[in-house]
Amino acid sequence: MLEDVPSDAELELRTIRQAGIEFESRRAESRNEFLGLLAEFKPHVVLSDFSLPGFDGLSALKLVREKYPDLPFIFVSGTIGEERAIEALKHGATDYVLKGNLARLPSSVLRALREAEEYRQRRRQEEKLARLSRIHAVLSGINSAIVRIHDRRELFQEACSVAVEQGEFRMAWVGLAVPGAATLKPVAWYGHNDGYLDEVAAAMDGAAENRGISGQALRQRNVIVVNDIENDERVVFRKEALARGYRSLAALPLLVDDEVVAIFMIFSGETGVFDQEEMKLLSELAGDVSFALGYLAKEEKLNYLAYYDVLTGLTNRNLLQDHLKQAIAHANRLGRMVAVVVIDLDHFKLINDSLGHSAGDQLLKEVATRLLSCIRDGDTVARPGGDEFVMVLPDQVSEESVSPVIQRLLESVSRAIYIENQELNITCSVGVALYPQDGGNVEMLLSNADAAMYRAKDLGRSNFQFFAKEMNAKVSERLLLQANLRHAIERDELFLHYQPKIDLRSGRLIGAEALVRWRSRKMGLMSPGRFIPIAEESGLIVPVGEWVIRQVCAQNRAWQEQGLPPVCISVNLSAHQFRRKGLPQLIATALREARLDPGYLEMELTESMVMHNVEQAIMILGDLKAMGLELSIDDFGTGYSSLSYLKRLPVGRLKIDRSFVQDIASDPDDAAITQAVISLGHSLGLKVTAEGVETEEQLAFLKANACDEAQGFYFGKPMPAADFALLLDSLGSTRGRALDHHSWPA
Ligand code: C2E
Ligand code: MG
Ligand code: MG
Repeated sequence: MLEDVPSDAELELRTIRQAGIEFESRRAESRNEFLGLLAEFKPHVVLSDFSLPGFDGLSALKLVREKYPDLPFIFVSGTIGEERAIEALKHGATDYVLKGNLARLPSSVLRALREAEEYRQRRRQEEKLARLSRIHAVLSGINSAIVRIHDRRELFQEACSVAVEQGEFRMAWVGLAVPGAATLKPVAWYGHNDGYLDEVAAAMDGAAENRGISGQALRQRNVIVVNDIENDERVVFRKEALARGYRSLAALPLLVDDEVVAIFMIFSGETGVFDQEEMKLLSELAGDVSFALGYLAKEEKLNYLAYYDVLTGLTNRNLLQDHLKQAIAHANRLGRMVAVVVIDLDHFKLINDSLGHSAGDQLLKEVATRLLSCIRDGDTVARPGGDEFVMVLPDQVSEESVSPVIQRLLESVSRAIYIENQELNITCSVGVALYPQDGGNVEMLLSNADAAMYRAKDLGRSNFQFFAKEMNAKVSERLLLQANLRHAIERDELFLHYQPKIDLRSGRLIGAEALVRWRSRKMGLMSPGRFIPIAEESGLIVPVGEWVIRQVCAQNRAWQEQGLPPVCISVNLSAHQFRRKGLPQLIATALREARLDPGYLEMELTESMVMHNVEQAIMILGDLKAMGLELSIDDFGTGYSSLSYLKRLPVGRLKIDRSFVQDIASDPDDAAITQAVISLGHSLGLKVTAEGVETEEQLAFLKANACDEAQGFYFGKPMPAADFALLLDSLGSTRGRALDHHSWPA
């Protein structure tokens, strides 16, 4: 009440009270008193005289309208002319009541209060609508960002700036969940921040767990709303927040696959903005951002799979080509060279087959790590597949600048590797091609480096070769060979040689090993050493192997039908063949069709074929054994034999590898190994055959050590079927007589 006459004031108040309105009142007479009451007493309605000694009603009205636009202001005055009344209403007075007609005052006060309340509500409604439409703008802003942006940080940054710019929030930030640490790391922010995040981050860093609202949202995986920061105990950084004008806040967890990956924090400069409807929209927003994050995570993973080798984490074939292309472009600009280095592990297949895939994988990982340690920044190590690695070394000045890197990698790979408590010594063969002289594009460089690598292998492995033009001939030979081998069977180009096997005690011919040969119309006669590895690589070993089995069965049956003495013929199986389903059926069919007794057929397997998967091998061998076949382990001593398994294998024979037999007369080590294999074989109830017997000394040693059987040039080279038939025939006519080795053809 602004009134200088106390009795007037008393009269007005009584009038209102008599109308049944309960209230409290304060009276001011001066401008200062009036301002003080407005701030402290916070009235719901102002009653003001028009003219006072030191102040005037119109000025008071202006003051009120400036600061409290909805506060009802009623003039109560003795006289008021029409002109003044109009002016008062123009300045926003709610009503005027003449002191001579005070009876009107109570209803005027009541109406003013009601209208003020209605006005406040309407304004709240309007504000809310405006706010919601701002949030809608935020939502659509973020959704368009989601479509546009393919980077997580950028998406967070955009979410923050959209919230502040379009949502008219005071500040927004995103904290990334630190895995396993229950804390957040701010990664994006926008708006009025003024060091707030630094202070908060510093406080969070020290604490074992972040107790702020963002931390709570992270742990509870829930939206948290604080609509009045000033009066909410939960806000740990209240002082810091209020200092920046933050009055309310919302913490929105962003989830991917049910895990909180980040918290989106939004601050408003007003209290009470986060009501139900607003939160519905904000939750939708959080859901959209979460969706985008999940999508990005999948995309990242897909990208990763598309460009990286999952086992080693190295660049894969796709990315390798990219890098090489870039390196070439770079070299063109600077007039430099690029080295492409192909690295192939020697005998990796053997390790993989004998120790199993998991050991093989570990080995590849270890080699990847070692190769990475050999290179500089900007170089690439890729694993395009299998046991092959490729390095791209840009910025080379000469052939000489490449050599040290290659020396380093050869040395690094050849250091002992320990896997599953075994020491492995692996070497590699390396081929190098240089841009521009060895090839002008990615394909040429890779294929020429490959050719150089094959050359290194041919030269005895564990070395490196720079590409030379002649090498292409080698590679094309491999390809040519493979192409021709495809037609070898239908063109009837394969045939078999038979190498005699002798019983050492009696000296009798006891059978033969069938060895495949290929006379290619285009490429001439070829030994299995040349085409069997290529047949295995290309899978052609399957039809070739099947042909051999059928041919051996048919041939052996034919000899028996000719009346020759029945003998056992052995066939070499390859790893590929052995592991393929249906091998026993295939053999059974071949035997049935040839009407051959299974006891006259023997299968030769190598240790590595068996050790690859011992349980499976035991089963397959069991099946073959049950069919009545003879089984032997070929090339014994060259693989990674596990003697404990050997006991469980249903085989009847060990064939000592030629490499031991070769030097038994001169090398004590080989002699010792051969002796050991013979006695080991005997202790397991196996027969022992020596391969590659060429001299009388070797034969003497083997006989002296009770070796059971032998095979080798001393007794006979692998020979055509007709020649072996002659041999059998001569044996047939002297059946039972021990053969003197002098009677063997030279
Ligand atoms: P292998 O099974 O160890 O066969 C013995 C190899 O040693 C044969 O070579 C034979 O000619 C050679 N050899 C025999 N006695 C002597 C000797 O006194 N001195 C020397 N220096 N060598 C001797 P070949 O015929 O070139 O066969 C090589 C390898 O090819 C075989 O080794 C076998 O692993 C594989 N192979 C041969 N035929 C087949 C087949 O039909 N299928 C499969 N999967 N592999 C085959
Ligand atoms: Mg063999
Ligand atoms: Mg052998």
